[in-house]
Amino acid sequence: MSTLRFNALKETLNRQPIEVNEPKRRSDIFGKNVFNKYAMRQHLTKQAYKSVIDAMENGTKISREVADHISTGMKEWSIQNGATHYTHWFQPLTGGTAEKHDAFFELEMDGEVIEKFGGGQLVQQEPDASSFPNGGIRNTFEARGYTAWDPTSPAFIMGTTLCIPTVFIAYTGEALDYKTPLLRSLQVVDQAATDVCKYFDKNVSKVVATLGWEQEYFLIDAALADSRPDLQMAGRTLLGHSSAKGQQLDDHYFGSIPSRVLNYMRDMETECMLLGIPVKTRHNEVAPNQFELAPIFEEANLAVDHNSLLMDVMRKVASRHNFKVLFHEKPFAGVNGSGKHNNWSLATNTGVNLLSPGSTPMKNLQFLTFFVNTIKAVHDNEELVRATIASASNDHRLGANEAPPAIISVFIGSQLTKVLDELEKVTDGKLSPEEKTDLKLNVVGKIPEVILDNTDRNRTSPFAFTGNKFELRAVGSTANCANPMTVLNAIVAKQLIEFKEEVDALIKDKKLKKDEAIFNVLREYIKQSKKIRFEGDGYGEAWEKEAKKRGLSNNKTTPTALKAKVSKKTIKLYEDLNIMSKVETESRYEIEVEEYAMRIQIEGRILGDIARNHVIPTAVKYQNRLIENVVGLKEIYGKDFKKYAKEQMILIEDISEHIEKINKGITEMTDARKKANKAKNAEETAAQYCDNVKPYFDVIRYSCDKLELLVDDELWPLTKYRELLFTR
Ligand code: ADP
Ligand code: MG
Repeated sequence: MSTLRFNALKETLNRQPIEVNEPKRRSDIFGKNVFNKYAMRQHLTKQAYKSVIDAMENGTKISREVADHISTGMKEWSIQNGATHYTHWFQPLTGGTAEKHDAFFELEMDGEVIEKFGGGQLVQQEPDASSFPNGGIRNTFEARGYTAWDPTSPAFIMGTTLCIPTVFIAYTGEALDYKTPLLRSLQVVDQAATDVCKYFDKNVSKVVATLGWEQEYFLIDAALADSRPDLQMAGRTLLGHSSAKGQQLDDHYFGSIPSRVLNYMRDMETECMLLGIPVKTRHNEVAPNQFELAPIFEEANLAVDHNSLLMDVMRKVASRHNFKVLFHEKPFAGVNGSGKHNNWSLATNTGVNLLSPGSTPMKNLQFLTFFVNTIKAVHDNEELVRATIASASNDHRLGANEAPPAIISVFIGSQLTKVLDELEKVTDGKLSPEEKTDLKLNVVGKIPEVILDNTDRNRTSPFAFTGNKFELRAVGSTANCANPMTVLNAIVAKQLIEFKEEVDALIKDKKLKKDEAIFNVLREYIKQSKKIRFEGDGYGEAWEKEAKKRGLSNNKTTPTALKAKVSKKTIKLYEDLNIMSKVETESRYEIEVEEYAMRIQIEGRILGDIARNHVIPTAVKYQNRLIENVVGLKEIYGKDFKKYAKEQMILIEDISEHIEKINKGITEMTDARKKANKAKNAEETAAQYCDNVKPYFDVIRYSCDKLELLVDDELWPLTKYRELLFTR
């Protein structure tokens, strides 16, 4: 009998929902563990408070002296709330979060003990940067990087540690994390959008990007998940036959949440409340044991931090409930994968959502301006948008007939399509008074109504307008949102800068009125960006053909998709906007390409090990039983034995055939890996892993899965899909 699997199954049989302590009112505890404005007001001097708020809202520098005051207040607050340690919390390019805890505790020269945390420790620290990916920016032996406080994201207490959100930068100035370019992109889009807003409202002085992510995930019993080496090490199953029942009946989506899971969610959401993560929605997803969680949207930098923090919290709380969270985009073949929709918009300091239609024609013209510019930005940079969501794990989802395809397109709904069609007909140059009135009354003026009864939603679009925001749906569930957010902010910022230049030129040179100029430029943008708009079924084959005709890219694998990250166009975009230097852009590409190859390499090794060490020996064991049986039958029935042993003999042969395919596949895959490792550079290695190594996964898996169906269930060592996905 296969001990690990059956022990694990036994363990799950008696699981009970874990009791949770949930407050009656969430508002009572919201942000209790966050050094937010409320806590700051209580623990900081007036001057220090003003200084932090100024830094948060206007990006001003905090002097060293004030930093000393702030750190003292922060320390007092955090000790009162149970913290004993502090850490700079940052997001290195590994995709996770990093922290190194130091105690507040210090020994003075005279042996006296005090709790200490100075301004210096708040503002800057030096983690050993050599152990984080840096894409060749610094040689490991001279690795010097530092973390610097980001006052725009408040400090928080996790467990007994005060966590201070920081950026992570090399001493030579290059960013080594996700946050730095994100912050730079937010600054740029703020500037560009504010300038454009001034056409419509002089009072706008700041624009922030907003992000509301939706996190999908699987919850698997911890004992069962731990019984599978592939889940443990690669976060996904590399083999396993589909269970007889999957998601065919559509009986999981929005169904009632199982009580063990519900208690997990309540517990985890309580932690989120304490940390100020405004989680709001929870429900079952399409696949069995798949769920989704969404917060109320926030300023993008904070929302990105909150998503990283959430993933951490989810893992930690899961272990209390004997669950393992799988964030992988495709943990199980044949069932739905997981994504992380990124809902994005722009909001002004005057409280206006720029992607939400307003109550007057002028406000709607502002809406249209941002709406059309966003579409144009995506049109002009579709390959970069595709690149930003590329990863080894997301490759399993994109284009797999269940998730947005690898082709980027924009869905806006039939009503707004009509509006854009109308705008396309606007006269070139000056508009007659009649035309202006018509536009006001019948086109621009009608938009709010249009959107209100705009019920058409397209779930197959990778980038959809959903009434008051755009939703980038192709982001993978493991991704750090900073990447796609940086790209969106950057391309929209660039677009808005160009827009303003063009409108200003028409006003100045052609003597057009402001609204005439805007209509003129929008008309051209609508025409120029038409090919990115697609309202049909994004999963269909017809779209692939159509997209090709339109000249849209269809980069199906990560190594091909990533190339857009280092195209001349991208490097220039980031350089022009001061978001990343060429060195930074190239080093990030290097890191991602290397990571891709490593992931496939690791998966290849795991698959090889499982197939050779678990599957083949099991198959042989079972085959021996069959052989024994045949030999026995022969003993009893002599030359007539075939009458009774025929089927067993077919099974014996089938098993041999599969064993051969598996073993041969592994040998060939290993050779392909060796060759890929010797390729001339990281890019070539990644390409070879993609084209020459990965295809063996399917070959090997196919035979393993067939054996799973042939071999006695009692002997099978790997926990099966039906057990992983349906055990509650
Ligand atoms: P769904 O897309 O599943 O129908 P909703 O439309 O309610 O759900 O919103 C999904 C997500 O979009 C939520 O996380 C929500 O906070 C976010 N969202 C709503 N408005 C905005 C906005 N202006 N900017 C960014 N995100 C937003
Ligand atoms: Mg959504």
